[in-house]
Amino acid sequence: MKLTILSDNNTLIDKYLLGEPGFSCLVEAEGKRFLLDTGYFGVFAKNAKTLGISWRDVDGVVLSHCHDDHTKGLSAFFTEGPKPLLVAHPSLFRRVVSRGLFIGCPYPREQVERYFDLVLTAEPLALTENLYYLGAIPRPRTLDQDPALREGEDGPDRTPDDTALAYRGREGVYVITGCSHSGICNIVEQAKKVTGQSRVMGVIGGFHLRQLDDRSKAAIDYLKGEDIPYLYPCHCTALSVKVAMGNEMHIEEVGAGTSLIWE
Ligand SMILES: [Zn+2]
Ligand SMILES: [Zn+2]
Repeated sequence: MKLTILSDNNTLIDKYLLGEPGFSCLVEAEGKRFLLDTGYFGVFAKNAKTLGISWRDVDGVVLSHCHDDHTKGLSAFFTEGPKPLLVAHPSLFRRVVSRGLFIGCPYPREQVERYFDLVLTAEPLALTENLYYLGAIPRPRTLDQDPALREGEDGPDRTPDDTALAYRGREGVYVITGCSHSGICNIVEQAKKVTGQSRVMGVIGGFHLRQLDDRSKAAIDYLKGEDIPYLYPCHCTALSVKVAMGNEMHIEEVGAGTSLIWE
């Protein structure tokens, strides 16, 4: 499996790509190409062009959750052409507000359906033989989930649609997350369950640990216990948390243009 970060808050020196407070990652596995999230400003498409990657030619787009820093870039696909799959949780189009601002998917379902074959499911789904959409993430570790309650159309909103991708590798499972509102440890546990693998080889994406508090410390303890060789926290992972993680285990820097081959 090859992954390429097309949008992140960070850009790496000497790559001359754009950054934004968003996330998008191209995942290529077993002859298929999926885009996990689309960032905010369409930066993913610009960076892909700079890198010589034909982003339009994907088999599908997977949305980790509805927040607009992951879904607003969908509009890059709003042109005539082949209709890729779009896989997301059934509550993708709900109304979510944070501090008075609408932060959900900015496009209505009818508009999205014009340009995508929409698959809305809360169940795990095999995208290729070894690449999985994880579906709704069970949250047995309650401390692990994002404590921020946003305002939803049916009351408080805890991002029930939050999900991630998992790849069944030769030696263990690899996890690619968007924002991890459901909790990075809960996501890793779901990835193990769905792929049937107990060893965790790598995790990349937003860990949604915004400050060094009890929740972050518990997540760091969990990740240390899992003894994960390849850890790439980015997007919504605070510097203080990265520093604390780096003191306990090996972590790597991430930015637009980061490209990894995980087998
Ligand atoms: Zn989010
Ligand atoms: Zn985010």
